[in-house]
Amino acid sequence: MCQIALYPGTFDPVTNGHIDIIKRAQEIFSEITVAVAHNSYKEPIFSVKERLEMLKQATKDMPAVTVTEFDGLVVEYAHKIKAKVLIRGLRMLSDFEYEFQMALTNRKLAPDIETIFLMPHESYSYLSAKLIREVGSLGADLSAFVPDFVEKALRDKLRKKA
Ligand code: ADP
Repeated sequence: MCQIALYPGTFDPVTNGHIDIIKRAQEIFSEITVAVAHNSYKEPIFSVKERLEMLKQATKDMPAVTVTEFDGLVVEYAHKIKAKVLIRGLRMLSDFEYEFQMALTNRKLAPDIETIFLMPHESYSYLSAKLIREVGSLGADLSAFVPDFVEKALRDKLRKKA
C-alpha cells in the first residue's frame, strides 16, 4: 500500500486552505511531502526559501509532514521520493478544469501515480494565495485566512515593495 503522498504547489504564501488540506491528508497517509515548485509562475512575491520557511513553521507540529522544494516535472519528483499519490485541493468548480487537465496529463506521463483531490472546509473554499496577496496589499485584516506569522511576513514584504 502507498504510504507517501506528495502535495505540490506554489504556496505563495501558505494559507489556512493549504493547511486544512495537509491536515486532512495526514489522516490518510503516513508520510506527506509538501513541495514548493520552483517554476509554477514567473514572479512569486516570496522566494522559495521564504515559502519553505513559512510552510515549515505552519507544519511544525505535524510529524508526518516534510517540507521540500522541486524543479521540473512533478511526476519525476514523485518518482524520486517514491510517492505514488499526488494530493491536490479542490475549492470551487473553477479549479476543476485546470486540475482535471493536469491530473490527466500527469497520468499520461506517469501511469503509476494517482492524483487524489481533497476538499477543504467550506470556510476555505474561496481562499487562494492570489486573493491573499491582493487583499493584503490593500490593507485587509488577514487573520481569518493565514497564520499570524504569514500575515506579518506579507505585511513586511509589501512594505518593502512599496
Ligand atoms: P493557490 O495559489 O491557488 O492558492 P497553489 O499553487 O499554492 O495555489 O496550490 C496548491 C494546491 O493547493 C492546488 O491543488 C490548489 O487547488 C490547492 N489549494 C489552494 N488553496 C486552497 C484552499 N483554500 N483550499 C483547498 N485547496 C487549496
